[in-house]
Amino acid sequence: MNKDRRKLACLLVAAIVIVILTVSILRKDQSVEIKYTRLMMGTVVEIILNGYSEQVIKDAADAGFAEIKRLESLMSHYQESSDVSKINKGAGMEPVTVSPEVIEVVETSRRVSEMSSGAFDITMGVLGSVWHFTKDDGGEPLPPASEEVTPLLKLVNFNQVIVDRDALTVKLAKEGMRINLGGVAKGYIVSKAVDAVKRKGIKKGIIQAGGDMFMFNETDDKPFRIGIRNPREENKVIGTIDITNGATATSGDYERFFIKDGVRYHHIIDPKTGFPAAKVQSVTIVAKDGTTADAVSTAVFVMGKEEGMKLIEKLPDAEGLIIDADGNITMSSGFNEYNPSIPEEGVK
Ligand code: ADP
Ligand code: MG
Repeated sequence: MNKDRRKLACLLVAAIVIVILTVSILRKDQSVEIKYTRLMMGTVVEIILNGYSEQVIKDAADAGFAEIKRLESLMSHYQESSDVSKINKGAGMEPVTVSPEVIEVVETSRRVSEMSSGAFDITMGVLGSVWHFTKDDGGEPLPPASEEVTPLLKLVNFNQVIVDRDALTVKLAKEGMRINLGGVAKGYIVSKAVDAVKRKGIKKGIIQAGGDMFMFNETDDKPFRIGIRNPREENKVIGTIDITNGATATSGDYERFFIKDGVRYHHIIDPKTGFPAAKVQSVTIVAKDGTTADAVSTAVFVMGKEEGMKLIEKLPDAEGLIIDADGNITMSSGFNEYNPSIPEEGVK
């Protein structure tokens, strides 16, 4: 009798194990990946999510896009009612009350300004009145005369951005100053969109906006293979890196640019000269946090290979790859962690 019972129990356990295994295999088979694309933040935003239910994935993607829209409406200097526009309109006057998210991005910007000796500086926004990179950018894509640029440089200084964390206010000290979060906000917003889709139960996916990407995979250890763009050939990559969880940001001279008399004028400006930085073609930063990755990629782009690499090496949570003006590739000391498959001869 006892023996029979034990047998029965064993059979029952075996049956349960078989059912669990079958369900989990079936679930794996039914796992789907869906990609959504929208034009936002002046670029193409992609949300690619994995899961078992199309409805859950769709709801999560909607939540991700909604978060991007909300944060863009706070941080875009193109939108009249944004916090950034309010800060700019109040320049030289009263402190302006803004959302905590804007405070966070402005404070990270200041930290990156300090560590890059001003190579990254959101107050370069004032130069937006003289630099137009595309026709819909508010003017003809032509380089401004240095007489137009030089007087504006005295309004470029991150130390004149006064933040009160407790009161949630930002003030630009001088009249005429302007900030532009274009070099940092996309990385922040993409990370926040990832938080939003995770809150909807998604465990694996990628969110990408232009050169800013965030991948996450809490289901297994399989990394995503990410292509690093060839700065001189559209739709081509120079190689790949593998990332399971984290952010990458690429700043390149090919995103928004025009060529005049053989010179490439692009949207990353050296705050010291008011003209495009010319030392490198592109910088890719891998970091835990998207905001840092984005701001540091812009900073390193302006600093160039030697100074830029020194900055990357100082940061414990960031690694980087630089393609210099001649197409030579340099990687930071810990970059091998991402299993790079990159041609030694560089981009020629
Ligand atoms: P992308 O926007 O193409 O991903 P970046 O992250 O490098 O590239 O940001 C470039 C944008 O950052 C520019 O369009 C401009 O708004 C802003 N920017 C340009 N130069 C600087 C700078 N030196 N410091 C801070 N922001 C900058
Ligand atoms: Mg950037």
